[in-house]
Amino acid sequence: MSPSNESNNKTAMRPRTALVRGGLHRSPLGETSEAIFLTSGFVYDDPEVAAARFSGDADGYTYSRLRNPTVAMFEERMALIGGTEIARATASGMAAVAASFLSQVKVGDHVVAGEALFGSIRVILEDVLPRFGVDLTMVNNTDLEAWKQAVQPETTLFFLESPSNPTLGITDLQAVADIAHNAGAKIILDNVFATPVLQRPVEFDIDITIYSATKHIDGQGRCLGGCILSDQKFLDDFLDPYLRHTGPALSPFNAWVLLKGIETLELRVEAACQNAQHVADFLAEQPGVTKVLYPGRQDHPQHTLAMRQMSAGGTLVSFELPGGRERAFAFLKALNLIDISNNLGDTKSLITHPASTTHQRLSPEDRAAQGIGEGLVRLSVGLEDADDLTDDIGQALAVAAL
Ligand SMILES: *Cc1c(COP(=O)(O)O)cnc(C)c1O
Repeated sequence: MSPSNESNNKTAMRPRTALVRGGLHRSPLGETSEAIFLTSGFVYDDPEVAAARFSGDADGYTYSRLRNPTVAMFEERMALIGGTEIARATASGMAAVAASFLSQVKVGDHVVAGEALFGSIRVILEDVLPRFGVDLTMVNNTDLEAWKQAVQPETTLFFLESPSNPTLGITDLQAVADIAHNAGAKIILDNVFATPVLQRPVEFDIDITIYSATKHIDGQGRCLGGCILSDQKFLDDFLDPYLRHTGPALSPFNAWVLLKGIETLELRVEAACQNAQHVADFLAEQPGVTKVLYPGRQDHPQHTLAMRQMSAGGTLVSFELPGGRERAFAFLKALNLIDISNNLGDTKSLITHPASTTHQRLSPEDRAAQGIGEGLVRLSVGLEDADDLTDDIGQALAVAAL
């Protein structure tokens, strides 16, 4: 009994429909919601079927490290939303990042990366890859000349985040993709902050996009997950052999949670963006706030570019308080509603102090070069009433005497 495909005509499905129905394969029982196939393996009617599936002569599942029906529904939906030929799910966002590098680099290769990086990605680039003979050059994310200058004959990969963490810098994706392709290199984008609904990397010739599905895609703080989107050729040549045989597979249960989360992704992200814009505008008017970084505001240094690449300013707002770490901590402690957490993309608003948490590992000089001062805080705006958020921020600024 093979699941039937209820997703019908894929090309006719608009994005909102794809979020709800993309990749849906119903079993013969006709369940409404996607089924959870919480099974590690599959059985065969006879040994010939098993042999044919192993040789690739017959379609069908064999073992959940390789393929699983619930995970496959999530992957198909992600590819439809991203507009790519394929998507492959992983157990976490970092498993996706690691796979996108380790599946394809070899000794002697050179990687160019934007320096504003999620902490664990920095460890992969600075500590893990060099042990396998892969060189790295870091550049200022928004400096196109620096990307050009960093290219070497051995350069095979570019990597960046836009918007970047935590200062929300915006890089001209098409321009950097052109530089990479002129150098014969591929480009990987971490699109976590923008989400697939605000920014479509394929429109800017990005070869490989990675997501931490832990963030907005689940969006409700429940489980870890990751995803890699690319063309079929990258899957066949590099990614598939790596994933099948190193095993960073997503649990079918988590895939199901993510399938449920993604149904409301656009609605949640749009509402959170509206809240974030409201909070950013409020912060900009507070005398105790020295700087507000929000791509949706006209005073953001790359506002025009942000609005060209993204359909809204995003769900994160970073801002700077005077008085260094002490006053920043006093502000965080005074918040009653907003939680202190390094996670992001949740329905609940979460705030973190990057210099002492996510970016603690950097030297003070590297932090200063990236604009991560002791007074900087990063707020992931959730779905609460925007006025409750500004009330909470306002009273905490007063308590911290900012
Ligand atoms: C969270 C995050 C990751 C890593 O994802 P996990 O699911 O935590 O492994 C990578 N990049 C960015 C920008 C993130 O926010």
